[in-house]
Amino acid sequence: MQITIYRGTHEIGGTLVEIKSGKSRILIDAGYPLFLNNQPIGDEVSSYSYDKLLEVGVLPDIKGLYGWDAPAFDAVIISHAHIDHYGLLRYIHPEIPVYLSKGTRKIIDISALFLQSAQPPAGACEFDMYKPFQIGDFRIMPFLIDHSAFDAAAFEISDKEKTIIYTGDFRGHGRKAVCLDRFIDKAKEGADALLTEGTMLGRQDEEVITEQELEDCLVKKIQDFKGPVLFQSSSQNIDRLVSFYRAAARLDKIFVVDVYTANVLYELRQLGNNRLPYPSVDYLNIKVFYPYRLTQKIFNKIGEEYAKRFSSFYIPKDKLKVVQNNIVMAVRPSMRRDIEIADLKNGMFIYSMWSGYRDSEYQKEFEGYLNRTGFSAHILHTSGHATVSDIRRLITGLKPKQIIPIHTMAPDSFISLSENVALKKDGEAFII
Ligand SMILES: [Zn+2]
Ligand SMILES: [Zn+2]
Repeated sequence: MQITIYRGTHEIGGTLVEIKSGKSRILIDAGYPLFLNNQPIGDEVSSYSYDKLLEVGVLPDIKGLYGWDAPAFDAVIISHAHIDHYGLLRYIHPEIPVYLSKGTRKIIDISALFLQSAQPPAGACEFDMYKPFQIGDFRIMPFLIDHSAFDAAAFEISDKEKTIIYTGDFRGHGRKAVCLDRFIDKAKEGADALLTEGTMLGRQDEEVITEQELEDCLVKKIQDFKGPVLFQSSSQNIDRLVSFYRAAARLDKIFVVDVYTANVLYELRQLGNNRLPYPSVDYLNIKVFYPYRLTQKIFNKIGEEYAKRFSSFYIPKDKLKVVQNNIVMAVRPSMRRDIEIADLKNGMFIYSMWSGYRDSEYQKEFEGYLNRTGFSAHILHTSGHATVSDIRRLITGLKPKQIIPIHTMAPDSFISLSENVALKKDGEAFII
């Protein structure tokens, strides 16, 4: 089995791993990079021409993968719906089948729709967790894994002789922590190689609490507070939305989501394999807010059914103003004007994302506005990635012959975790 990690041996995100055996060739993840030349990648890069993208290395030089080549891959398999794992899908040759889980597909579809970005692949094939599927010589077994992306997978990949395990992004302190135990229990012991993420190895000073602890912390923080509680998290970090929802429900507060977040919750709930809260008669404390610009976009471009499906749960701005001391509400910088019109003030703003995203001018302007209207700012967050002790537990449990760090800025730190660590370089093929 021949493996090439095109990106990720020394950086977080933008993962692409090729696996070859006999005549079969697959790519695991097609990630858009988070960094370019060691700097966070700018928005302008996505509008570069194909040649320029190849030249600067956003698209690694991989023959037979992209739309302008003769296709020479049997499949592209995506672990989860984070852009640093699927963001290059739009460049993949349309004849190469793309495999993803139902939840991953749903999130990619709805992001493409609301952000009006590139369409997701038409020929996508869905896999079910814990049900192996065959591509050429490869047998691929997907495991549901605990991560900040919904329905994320780890894979056990075998040809006739060898087995490798790819963790994707994972953690053991989320709402599906039990999935990590199950993965360690069920994935093959003594595999020929374990490709594991190591995001946190470069960020060990970051405090890690469980999602349940985060929910409890939140309850404590806001239970005696008189004023609107606004929070900013990713609309796709479902574990986090559930934490805020549950805290609101425990305190008998109204949980307000914007119409985009409402659609994400609604669409995922329709998959039928979960009990996510969503605006409906079963969850009457959830109300839907319609930000002006987004609502215009839905009616003009996306499709009015995405707005109308929540009309019974709509909370207008004047109503919001009246009940503001009793709300927990999801916000984004683009909603600043709406917050102003609703006259929300003297409240609490809770930032609940990785601090690295907080430095943009747009974000600072937004928080500056909130500060001027009497909002105090707080941070309450926990990582979507594995702690060192989770990685240790994984290695001890799976006993792989080789450990290959990926999705990390600090691959060298793995050496202290095991004597079987093999450090690799981007773009260099190696045999297992
Ligand atoms: Zn990632
Ligand atoms: Zn991720």
